[in-house]
Amino acid sequence: MAIFVKMLELGPVLTNCYLIMDDDSRELVVIDPGWDGKVILQEIKMLGGVLSAVWLTHGHFDHLGGIADLVRGNETDVEVCLHSEDKLLYEDQGGAAFFGLSIEAGPEPKCWLKDGQELSVGRFGFEVRHTPGHTPGHVVFYCKKENLLFSGDLIFQSSIGRTDLPGGSFKQIMSSIKENVLTLPDNTKILSGHGPETTVGQERINNPYL
Ligand SMILES: [Zn+2]
Ligand SMILES: [Zn+2]
Repeated sequence: MAIFVKMLELGPVLTNCYLIMDDDSRELVVIDPGWDGKVILQEIKMLGGVLSAVWLTHGHFDHLGGIADLVRGNETDVEVCLHSEDKLLYEDQGGAAFFGLSIEAGPEPKCWLKDGQELSVGRFGFEVRHTPGHTPGHVVFYCKKENLLFSGDLIFQSSIGRTDLPGGSFKQIMSSIKENVLTLPDNTKILSGHGPETTVGQERINNPYL
């Protein structure tokens, strides 16, 4: 059976939070708990999932605003995973103050993501790909078996992540996309941090930045 994916659009800038679950073991991972940790917990309960980890594509506030409530409210330990190059951003509430917002600080990550690292949700393996440009420690999660890419704010349908925020680089984001997205098969489904889903093939043809 295929991996189960549920998307919740949350918070002030409509960030896509993904719940991914192995139907067999019920192990569940949350990618980018953008806002409303309690809503995410409720959803996990409804799905009958067992939350084991939070994977962060990067350290921006709109991708982690719900993490404090989510981790505190869960009955068992939750591993928080982030790339170390976004550590300072994470500790600075993901830059929320810059947008006139504030979020509750999340727990200290215990799992520091590295390029090429293998993660899993039950029987589904994911490869971590370091994709700097939007932020220095941005990563994407690729499941080859399921033809699935969780792309955070690296690439969107017909657009790319902004590079004008601190630590951003247009040159870097372009090479991250070329090396880590355009090298994937056309039928790879892209689930991004904002907006609708797309595919590698669709972006290869329609994305005006590429
Ligand atoms: Zn971002
Ligand atoms: Zn974002």
